[in-house]
Amino acid sequence: MVLQRRANLGLRLKLAKCAFLQKEISYLGHTINSHGLAPDKKKVMAIQAAPEPKKCYGITVLLGSLAEAERRYAQIDREALALLFGVKKFHQYLSGRAFTILTDHKPLVSLLGENKGVPLMASGRMQRWAIMLCGYQYKRRYRPGTTNANADALSRLPLSVKPEVTENPSESVLSLHILEITPARPITTVQLRQFTDRDGQLATVRHSVLSGWQREVDSELRHYWNHRHELSVLGGCVLWGSRVIIPQKAWPMVLEELHEPHPGVSEMRSLARSYIWWPGLDADIEKIAKSCGTCQEHQRSPPKAPLHPWAQPERAWSRLHIDFAGPFLGRWFFILSDAYSKWLEVNH
Ligand SMILES: [Zn+2]
Repeated sequence: MVLQRRANLGLRLKLAKCAFLQKEISYLGHTINSHGLAPDKKKVMAIQAAPEPKKCYGITVLLGSLAEAERRYAQIDREALALLFGVKKFHQYLSGRAFTILTDHKPLVSLLGENKGVPLMASGRMQRWAIMLCGYQYKRRYRPGTTNANADALSRLPLSVKPEVTENPSESVLSLHILEITPARPITTVQLRQFTDRDGQLATVRHSVLSGWQREVDSELRHYWNHRHELSVLGGCVLWGSRVIIPQKAWPMVLEELHEPHPGVSEMRSLARSYIWWPGLDADIEKIAKSCGTCQEHQRSPPKAPLHPWAQPERAWSRLHIDFAGPFLGRWFFILSDAYSKWLEVNH
């Protein structure tokens, strides 16, 4: 009868995915047989076969399931990744339903809150995750780790079976590359990383972002500490939101690049605001503009031509501009445009 109705409706089935004359089948986490519906044994195995705790299990157990790149994520990014892993893993159960996410990581509650839109100063990675979560109908609630024992126990006593890897959105949408694709190529990300390695202060910040902050920090790290939930690490460089934090060694080079078209103080500031940051950047920009006659002129009568024009590329698909747009009619759109042909690709 089932097959007849399918045939009437014109539905086709993939033979390899069908099972005939079975006493019992597993479907969507349940076992279905003549007795009815029961939880699939495989799904509750982690609880039934949990090893008896013999020693103190550390975070290293957990790290075993992270991909190489994910281990270098900031603490907050790892917490968010765990959340996203859960949502994607149980997509079939969650999609189209209202559900509640419980997390013991407080900053995440405000960063990935429901109906909050995408947080502006969150890292690019976090913004993409927030966009992915927009597709779900969820509430989020904070639950302190001490009362989150069920999830905690399972994460500390995992079975030896490795979970399959949850696919992650690609990391190719990077503001970091902006610094490299400007025509003059003032500095590469590799250089930035090397300068960061050698910059005592910034290297300390990077370490704290990756392995957690102390409760108190020295006064020179205050700037960073105040924004600790908005910092992330990408390619060995530290980012504040989507802005790359420039190590001190590279300040003169980057300032020179900003100053090259003599745009005046406010234009330099607004350009910097989109891509880069360091403590005292605004003051440095002011200083360089004040000591330059041409900039002073521009400041009084701003030139009409664009101040930092993109060079015309020589062939199609050699430079792409990408961004998210929205929300529009409740959706987010991923927009890509080819600088040469002006070809547009829009996805939602
Ligand atoms: Zn100037």
